Amino acid sequence: GVAIQMDAVTIRYNTRTGPVHALGPIDLDIAAGEFVSIIGPSGCGKSTTSKVVSGLLKPSAGEARVGGERITKPPQSMGIVFQDSLLMDWRTVLQNVLLPADMRKRPKKESVATAMELLASAGLAGFEEKRPYELSGGMRQRVAICRALLLEPELLVMDEPFGALDALTRDRMGLELQRIWMERRPTVLLITHSISEAVLLSDRIIVMSGRPGTIIADYQVETPRPRE
Ligand code: ADP
Ligand code: ADP
Repeated sequence: GVAIQMDAVTIRYNTRTGPVHALGPIDLDIAAGEFVSIIGPSGCGKSTTSKVVSGLLKPSAGEARVGGERITKPPQSMGIVFQDSLLMDWRTVLQNVLLPADMRKRPKKESVATAMELLASAGLAGFEEKRPYELSGGMRQRVAICRALLLEPELLVMDEPFGALDALTRDRMGLELQRIWMERRPTVLLITHSISEAVLLSDRIIVMSGRPGTIIADYQVETPRPRE
């Protein structure tokens, strides 16, 4: 995993009616390999924070670093899942999962094998040749999660990845994420509305609140979890 640092990061969105101060200043230090959840009410800046870490939003003030480097673009080894992740309808399910490998010109055979395994563990065996529009919303979200995991990223940024899933699938994907984390120790930033999910999966829970959003609490999760 890679470390994340935010020093006095502030975000102002430019809107037609002028700048909107949406976030911060916030200070945040996440160690390499840490599994961190962010919870907090709607509008407190959770998505905004995840976009800064993903390099999709540049701080209006302050500095954000991943792996010690100032973030200027989406980091190479990052998997990202948003609540409504976009899949390409002209590509098959398998081709969608393979997208990050295609973009980095990874060996085809190996990538296909990994993609098939991920799809199977996500309960999507047999759907490899379907198109995204033939799948349910929950299934599409699982495809997006598989795509994010394909290259075993050093950093996983997930903004309510399980929000649209039914309870059973949500639990299953949560456990799959935990298994991957235990095996490879990526740094994980998970935004969730579910406190139980945060407690079950993460090392640390950050609570945000307010407009502009700030960090109001930062807990280490003490619950013993299976390791190794
Ligand atoms: P969530 O709680 O899931 O983040 P929001 O309703 O806060 O949902 O925002 C959904 C998306 O809509 C955000 O990711 C953001 O890009 C966009 N958005 C939210 N508020 C505004 C706004 N005031 N002006 C423009 N876009 C916005
Ligand atoms: P959360 O994810 O916690 O729901 P967001 O990060 O989506 O919060 O939003 C934080 C604040 O920034 C909200 O007040 C929202 O309306 C505003 N906001 C989010 N995206 C945009 C945008 N693209 N333009 C203007 N305001 C935005």
